[in-house]
Amino acid sequence: EAAAALAGYEGPATTADGHAVQVLANVQDGAGARAAAAAHAEGVGLLRTELAFLGHSEEPSVDEQAKGYAAVFEAFAGRKVVLRTLDAGSDKPLAFATPADEANPALGVRGLRTTRLNPGILTRQLDAVKQAADATGAAPWVMAPMVSTVVEAAEFAALVRERGMVPGVMVEVPSVALLADRFLEHLDFLSIGTNDLSQYTLAADRLSGDLADLTDPWQPALLRMVQLTAEAGQRTGKPVGVCGEAAADPLLACVLVGLGITSLSCAASSVAGVGAKLGTVTLATCQRAAEVALAADDPQAARAAVREVLDAA
Ligand code: PEP
Ligand code: MG
Repeated sequence: EAAAALAGYEGPATTADGHAVQVLANVQDGAGARAAAAAHAEGVGLLRTELAFLGHSEEPSVDEQAKGYAAVFEAFAGRKVVLRTLDAGSDKPLAFATPADEANPALGVRGLRTTRLNPGILTRQLDAVKQAADATGAAPWVMAPMVSTVVEAAEFAALVRERGMVPGVMVEVPSVALLADRFLEHLDFLSIGTNDLSQYTLAADRLSGDLADLTDPWQPALLRMVQLTAEAGQRTGKPVGVCGEAAADPLLACVLVGLGITSLSCAASSVAGVGAKLGTVTLATCQRAAEVALAADDPQAARAAVREVLDAA
């Protein structure tokens, strides 16, 4: 029955009692976006713009960038596309944007912080996004990675609004989850990057296999960060999504919905599994699953407790 539901998934996703949850895709270029549309993603929840430029020694021109973004907008014409500005640095160094000699690159000049050294990279990218939006009739949402302070978010939002687009930021640093209401005074949405939020909440390198139990997205402290952020979204009526790997796990997707998350964005190959699973549970069951997951002491206990709640429902 589960396999049949998966094969038949065509979106948009709702819970069994009709609560809508957007199931979106993480993509990096036009080809990926077309594959995601074919997999019935409702839109793009995370366009990782830096991945197309990993091998480049020079910053791509505005025209070259605009062409790449337009290909993604065209694949999802009239639908939601969330574009992330360059997340250069740390595990994704870009030759033209990342300092070469940092002792702790994960805690260094990465994501939005690259504007401290070279603000033009961001403003030229925003010009390229605007150019692609105008050329295709798209209305993209635009978010910054690796944001830490309300002031950074407000300055970014102003640049995005100046160009007539919709601003948000990623929640990857605990400081944003803790002050989510105040960030939302300046922004139209938040998107939780659980890969980095785990790394910075548990103080464990996301690339370390030895520490994988600490960066497990089922860690109750990570789920508490998600809850704080989702509650701020509910208080302000603004969308809060999850676009990290956590969103690809159908069981954890139920927990995230129960915590108040309004959209999930994952690899195109995971869209049907997540969408189909949500169709089998009610919102009340998701909320009960969230409660028991938060109350567990470790990821294994959280998974077991959630399985029990979903099996009993
Ligand atoms: C994240 O940190 O969860 C995220 C979605 O961004 P990336 O994996 O590209 O750092
Ligand atoms: Mg990240």
